[in-house]
Amino acid sequence: MKRLYGGIDLGGSKIESVVCDEEGRVLASERRPTPVESAGALLEGLAASLRAACATAGARPEELEGVGLGAPGPLDAGSGLLLEPPNLGGLRDLPLAEPLARMLGAPCFLENDANAAALGEFTFGAGRGVRDGVYITLSTGIGGGLVLDGRLYRGASGTAGEVGHMILEPEGPLCGCGRRGCWEALASGLALAREARAALERLPAGPEREWWLARLSGRLEAVTARDVFAAEAAGVAPGPELVEREAGWVGVGMANLIQLLAPRRIVVGGGLSRAGERLLGRARARALELAFASATRELEIVPAELEAPGAVGAAVVAMRRLRGEA
Ligand SMILES: [Zn+2]
Repeated sequence: MKRLYGGIDLGGSKIESVVCDEEGRVLASERRPTPVESAGALLEGLAASLRAACATAGARPEELEGVGLGAPGPLDAGSGLLLEPPNLGGLRDLPLAEPLARMLGAPCFLENDANAAALGEFTFGAGRGVRDGVYITLSTGIGGGLVLDGRLYRGASGTAGEVGHMILEPEGPLCGCGRRGCWEALASGLALAREARAALERLPAGPEREWWLARLSGRLEAVTARDVFAAEAAGVAPGPELVEREAGWVGVGMANLIQLLAPRRIVVGGGLSRAGERLLGRARARALELAFASATRELEIVPAELEAPGAVGAAVVAMRRLRGEA
C-alpha cells in the first residue's frame, strides 16, 4: 500500500487541503473559507477540510503517515504553536499541531506557510534537483523561503526567509509591518495598486481615462494589480510604466538575494507571477544587471510549477519531519 500524506494550507481567507503520495502526486484537494470566529471553529474547519480531501482520495485520515499544516507566521514550528498571525481575526498563542493530531488520528506538523511552499517547490516543483534556492511568493504581500544546502533555513531565531521585509528604501512607503520601504511596500500587489491609484488620480481626461473608468465602473480608487496588467497588455497608459516600475523593484530585491545567497534557482510563485514573462522577464533582466556576473552564471529565475504549493509543501513538511529532517 502506498504511503499517503496530508497537507493543509491555512490562509487568512481560505483553507486548502490535499492528500498526496510520497512522489508529490495530488490524489485529492479541497478548499473552503477560513472560519475565524474562534479557535475551536478554526480547528474544526482545518480538520473538516482534510477529512473531505481524504474522502475524495478514498482514505481515512488515520491512514495518513502524517499531516503538515502551513500557516502564516510568526509561529513556533517546534511546538506547533501559532503566535500572533496578523490575518486571523486576533487569534493568538494558539496550539494547532497537537489538537489537530488528536482530531485526525495522525501526527501533525506546523510550518510557516512560505517555508512550506518553498519545500514543496524545491522537492516536487520548479526547484527540484537544486540544493540552493530561494522561493518568493509575489502576491498582495511578498513572502519567501530559503532552501540552503538541501535544507530549509530557519536561522537562529526561526524567522529567516522574511524576504518581503528586507528594507530597500528606509524613507520609502509604509509597510503593513509598520516599517518603511520594505520590499513588500515597494513591489507587492498592494504596492502596485497603490501606485496605480496615485497615477490614475493624475490621469488627464482622454481615451485612456475613459478606458480606466469603463474597466473600473467609474471607481478609479478600486484599481488592483490585475487591472494594471490588463492595461499593460492593452497598451493603455499608465499600465506599461507601472509594470516597468513593478518589475524593476522585483529585480532589485532579487539582486540583493543573489548577492547574499548566490542561489542556483529562484522560484517565483503567487498571484503576480501569473503575469509570466511580462513581469518575470523584466525583473530577471534588472536582477542580472545589478548582481555580480559571477554570482549569476548558473542562476535560473523561473515561475513556480505546483498547482497548490502551500498545501503540497505542507505535506512535504510532514514527510521530512517524519524522517527526522528539519
Ligand atoms: Zn515590512
